[in-house]
Amino acid sequence: MKYFYVITILALFSCKDSGNQTEVEELSEGIVYEEYSGVAPTTPEETEFYKPVPPVVKTYEKNIAPSDAIVLFNNNSLNEWISVKNPDSPADWIINADSSFTVKNKAGDIQTKKEFGNIQLHLEWKSPAEIQGENQSRANSGVFLQGRYEIQILDNNDNDTYVNGQVGSIYKQHIPLVKASVPSGEWNTYDIIYNAPEFDKRGNKIKSATITLLHNGVLVQNHQEIKGTTEYIGWPKNEAHGKAPIILQDHGDNSRVSFRNIWVRELK
Ligand code: MG
Repeated sequence: MKYFYVITILALFSCKDSGNQTEVEELSEGIVYEEYSGVAPTTPEETEFYKPVPPVVKTYEKNIAPSDAIVLFNNNSLNEWISVKNPDSPADWIINADSSFTVKNKAGDIQTKKEFGNIQLHLEWKSPAEIQGENQSRANSGVFLQGRYEIQILDNNDNDTYVNGQVGSIYKQHIPLVKASVPSGEWNTYDIIYNAPEFDKRGNKIKSATITLLHNGVLVQNHQEIKGTTEYIGWPKNEAHGKAPIILQDHGDNSRVSFRNIWVRELK
């Protein structure tokens, strides 16, 4: 249900003398909900609603796509993906016999054919059991929402790095609340709730994107505000955009990260 509310900021000032200093305390009336104004209900029925009825969604086993999801990968086909470098070419990553696929080193990032706005996204990823590299060069990949905002994928087990670039971070913007990785070589899940940013007609951002992330079912990003693109070097950028693809990263250093069971639900 959409709540309409009015934030009434009536700044009242009260002054208190404490010694030589004058403290100014700012007071506010807080949030006022219009639908809860007027005469208060006196029966339970007055606050019980029967419309709109939420649609029924069938769910299956844990982590299997619900009935209203768009499946982006669940068996042996990358048909829903194309190369970022060559959008006319199919995604050239490695399909495995166990219904997963693996980054093909230096083949470049891949992106969905379809473009998305607000979404719920589920994906599973695995770093190789045979460990190579360290710091940011150990099984580094990532999922870029709307092609711009990276949630980091990294084998961080016994592998320290800068914390705003560790596994589960929103790259160089938000440190995860906890590290919730499984051992190297086992499958991780990411469940992401993403709300896209909004821009006015002049291209100014008027509402930031937000990301919530559960890593293996554990909350690691709690409705975080996205400040702009997740740059390796430099400040976040905020050029206006509309719907855009999901991108998976080829970090170019033999990451050998694998993916499986990717599905997305479009949200209004
Ligand atoms: Mg990355």
